[in-house]
Amino acid sequence: MRIERILANNPGPYTGAGTNTWLLDGGAGQLMVIDPGPVDSEHLGKIVERCSGLAPVAVLVTHTHPDHAPLANLLARELDIPAFGYSTGPDFEPDLILGEGSTLEVGAVRVEVIHTPGHSEDHLCFRAGNVLFTGDHIMGGSSVMVEDMGPYLASLARLRGIGLTRLYPGHGEEMEEPDRVIDWYIAHRRQRHEQIYQAIAAGASGTGEIVEAVYAGVDRSLHPLAARSVEAHLELLREEGRIALTPTGATIVPLRP
Ligand SMILES: [Zn+2]
Repeated sequence: MRIERILANNPGPYTGAGTNTWLLDGGAGQLMVIDPGPVDSEHLGKIVERCSGLAPVAVLVTHTHPDHAPLANLLARELDIPAFGYSTGPDFEPDLILGEGSTLEVGAVRVEVIHTPGHSEDHLCFRAGNVLFTGDHIMGGSSVMVEDMGPYLASLARLRGIGLTRLYPGHGEEMEEPDRVIDWYIAHRRQRHEQIYQAIAAGASGTGEIVEAVYAGVDRSLHPLAARSVEAHLELLREEGRIALTPTGATIVPLRP
């Protein structure tokens, strides 16, 4: 098995150096392309060139956010292979739907699909041997925007202790010691969860005020993204019975620590 990265040219505050397009070569010339990225003819050309003379079998997307999936259908058509994903997205139409437990073959490598909702409801991770392609579930060198906190934490916990040795994220560098990385992510989310509760207990009563209080040390360009994670924490705090929201959601009141 060989893994190679082609970095998409979409650097930014939300994408780091850009989206990692991973090529998974399973032997016998067969390969899969994971997360082609945004529509970009130069990037498309690089991927097609890398596949020339080989036998690409599928294009996979981890989720349908705009920095991961929009090039997938174009690339699949260009290579005359199917595009696989969990569901239809704004700029993605899967030829085949993947779900928890789906398996794929590329050369001698078996790829196992793990549904990991949280960053987005449609998020998948792909396991090949002891390595995992993590998309935006786990990123290299930064925390992740979370849409749904309860499922996100559960999706992290279930990847722990399953024998992984390396992570290939949708952004940033590959990571060793996956269990330690996952522990950090869980601890980070738990810490934010408590900080958000404390901010509410100290009088912050809207998402904006909470972001100002909790994310003071984080670059302001990331605050809109932080606000979405805060909303996900608030939803979980509410489910836990620790806060209450007024009917408009404008005011949040603490109930218990
Ligand atoms: Zn992304």
